[in-house]
Amino acid sequence: MSYVTRFAPSPTGPLHIGHAFSALTAYRCAQSHDGTFLLRIEDIDRARSRDEYEQQIYDDLRWLGLDWPTPVMRQSDRMPAYRAALDRLIEMGLCYPCNCSRGDIRAALSAPQEGAPIEGPDGVIYPGTCRGRPMSEAGPTDAIRLDMTRATAHLDALPAFRETGPLFSGVHPLVANDMIVQIGDVILARKDMGTSYHLSVVVDDADQGITEVVRGADLFAATWIHVLLQALLGLPILQYHHHALIRDDTGKRLAKRDDARAIRAYREDGLSPDDVLKMIGLTVTPSAT
Ligand code: GLU
Repeated sequence: MSYVTRFAPSPTGPLHIGHAFSALTAYRCAQSHDGTFLLRIEDIDRARSRDEYEQQIYDDLRWLGLDWPTPVMRQSDRMPAYRAALDRLIEMGLCYPCNCSRGDIRAALSAPQEGAPIEGPDGVIYPGTCRGRPMSEAGPTDAIRLDMTRATAHLDALPAFRETGPLFSGVHPLVANDMIVQIGDVILARKDMGTSYHLSVVVDDADQGITEVVRGADLFAATWIHVLLQALLGLPILQYHHHALIRDDTGKRLAKRDDARAIRAYREDGLSPDDVLKMIGLTVTPSAT
């Protein structure tokens, strides 16, 4: 099977040099496997996505020397595919509607018997207040959650995924109890969106024929959710490569919205693409082995 990977930015702000590192790492992984590099625009958050940022993504990546097949997949065009996947999970009896606000969740977690809240990939673990509500009650003010206990019990065996990145390399089997305790009932469809990052990414990676996901180590914890959804939806279990995150001189991780580090700003300051590559510690001439 030939190698396919992708870079999947959200057009909610300018690309910064952390994105440049991620895109170039994915591009070079594709080159070294004689494979394909795809670009995908993750614009399900309509309130925060902007056309001008999308255009700037294309300009900045081209300036860095990347190319990709067109047309580019845009998540905002794909709502029916996400709805179909959600409906399958609902039909499997694994979902429930939830109308808890952040404040409700905080209040439930501050009850004396709850102990210290555990942080998962999406923030504090949902305390399960709405678990057990039937899907027939779902209305426009509800998000849809995955019941993690049911979801992990639904499969005869939980899958494992292979990680090839430098930080977590090896085979990682999913463990039901860890999924329930450390991840919990994640949101599959936000009420204002009809989908979520997790559901959309899984559906798109499968539809684009991705074989290895190359992305930052900050998304490693989300991978367990993605692999579980792949198994539940009968999709191929992908291979992953999470790269280290770019840090500034003081060792601080570069924030996504650190506009001072925007690729655009470096371009305007007269830096060349090679200067940017050197700055993020990449060799200037990619080896095409
Ligand atoms: N759209 C996500 C982001 O910009 C990346 C998603 C992914 O690579 O899975 O952080």
